[in-house]
Amino acid sequence: MTAVLNSVFYNDQYTACEHAFDTTRKSALIAASLLERRVRSVNIADPAGSKKETEALLRRLHEREYLHAVKTGDNLPLAQSQGFTWDEGVYTMALAHNTGLVAATDAVLLGGDHWAGTLSSGLHHASRSSGSGYCTFNGLAVAAQRARDHGAERILVLDLDAHCGGGTYEMTRHLGVVQIDVSTSSFDWWKPDTDDADSDLDFASPEQYLPRVQRALQRATRLGPWDFVLYNAGMDPFNTGVRAGMLRWRERLVAEWAARQGVPIVVTIAGGYTWGDVTMEQLVGLHRSTFEEFAAAA
Ligand SMILES: [Zn+2]
Repeated sequence: MTAVLNSVFYNDQYTACEHAFDTTRKSALIAASLLERRVRSVNIADPAGSKKETEALLRRLHEREYLHAVKTGDNLPLAQSQGFTWDEGVYTMALAHNTGLVAATDAVLLGGDHWAGTLSSGLHHASRSSGSGYCTFNGLAVAAQRARDHGAERILVLDLDAHCGGGTYEMTRHLGVVQIDVSTSSFDWWKPDTDDADSDLDFASPEQYLPRVQRALQRATRLGPWDFVLYNAGMDPFNTGVRAGMLRWRERLVAEWAARQGVPIVVTIAGGYTWGDVTMEQLVGLHRSTFEEFAAAA
């Protein structure tokens, strides 16, 4: 019997910029942990082969002036609109995180994997014309466009990061993507368009967190079947009081839901921070739980 390997994409360009922050550093530590202490069936893969296609998608989805600013630093306020001090590596870093989404999308839609992951963050708040909230380019919009180019019609963005995905909603409206978002913070709040009865943004307190996630999955089931699902698996609800055990349970619910639906799903790590007394070791453990639960459910 051949072992099925699920790719989790990462390369050292994910940490290419000088600005040191969880979003620009944690992927290297998660990759090191996944290499040192293997998760069954998970294979760390280099997404570099998808870089050219990703740049072409970024040109379709983001405004030219904004891309130019991040590439060159010519317009510093725009180049730094995500909140990082600019250097040339910011473009390299953000492109790499987006490339991981494209490689993972290709792995599930062309390669036949049921799920694929990427250690990408800094995505869902970015809009067409600027960055926001540590997000430079919107890899979720990029992956949705890639999936549409591959023929996927019913596309779901499931965003369980602590913060809302207003940037993604803005950037994927033209694709008719359905967005189901459960948040614990109102940052980047969005409201479904009047002609969009399917998308939904819900807020949850730590006590109500898992029931709200379950409700979101029930909604996703009702609105299915889906051709492609993007899961923004932020661990930052931990920074707003949701416990690690509940977040592991959340990952199990989503992974088992995806396996039951038999839908190709791409998982990206999204938010999660060493704020307060949260250590990097804890944060790495939280993000590992995503891949451990997806590997177990497959
Ligand atoms: Zn967040």
